[in-house]
Amino acid sequence: MPSIIVHGGAGAAVADADEFRPGMRAAVSAGWAVLAGGGRALDAVEAAVRSLEDDERFNAGRGAVLTEDGTVEMDASIMEGDRLGCGAVGAVSRVANPITLARRVLDDSRHVLLVAHGAHAFARAAGLPECDPASLITERQRRRLAERRAATPGNTPSRTPGGARSGTLPGTVGATALDRHGTVAAATSTGGMLGKRPGRVGDSALIGCGTYADSSLGGVSCTGDGEAIIRVVLARRALEYLKEADDPDYAAKVSVDLLVEEGRGEGGLIVVDWRGRIGYAHSTPLMPVGWMTPTLGEPALPF
Ligand code: ASP
Repeated sequence: MPSIIVHGGAGAAVADADEFRPGMRAAVSAGWAVLAGGGRALDAVEAAVRSLEDDERFNAGRGAVLTEDGTVEMDASIMEGDRLGCGAVGAVSRVANPITLARRVLDDSRHVLLVAHGAHAFARAAGLPECDPASLITERQRRRLAERRAATPGNTPSRTPGGARSGTLPGTVGATALDRHGTVAAATSTGGMLGKRPGRVGDSALIGCGTYADSSLGGVSCTGDGEAIIRVVLARRALEYLKEADDPDYAAKVSVDLLVEEGRGEGGLIVVDWRGRIGYAHSTPLMPVGWMTPTLGEPALPF
């Protein structure tokens, strides 16, 4: 049974969580349109993530958070679970849709992960439209960086290990889906963490950490403290829990415990299993999620 679940990033509670609702609904619908038409899970997760990259309320594509230098550097990864095909990009700033560049790495290159200049050169060779990095920067993110600089003179990290991501807003995006052919796919895209050091690459670019899919088990997309997620290889570990317990919600919850206790960080994740059942969990106050299955008339958006 086809299904898709999408997240809009783990973070602190915001006064108006409803601001994420139209974007989440549009992303679930974009992915579901692919699945309902008999299309591939890989195309569905790419479509869902692209739609959130195009929505500047989310920390991906235009609207991504800024580095400590005031620039945009984005990470993205995508995986197809039949043959464990994967593609990823790190620290890219010249494409509006990093997830589509990651997809091209999967489809058209012999590599899994390309970063920075090499990724831009590959994008050009692949014929993807190049964008001016300045066009990805929004006024809102400029203001957030200025506020952060004012609050943390000397740029001391705002997140202490084990801290509650209190200064971190939701906004990283991801999706995982099962299609009619039994294939599972997952995708994640982000601008990373506000005020990060240029050159920092997080979990969202790393297969097994931010993203994983195996059609015999399920698919996962993670969000949260990237360094902590990397430490525990969260996405792959979540599928091991799923294998043990055969319960996506339980697997998601135990994975968040792992992130908090062993990873010493905060965050969340979404899971779809090989039967199309979905699960999610987060340790932060807010993580926008939405999903769609054949039994629902319209996307569920329980946040
Ligand atoms: N995991 C992302 C990163 O560390 C950020 C996030 O999900 O909010 O790059």
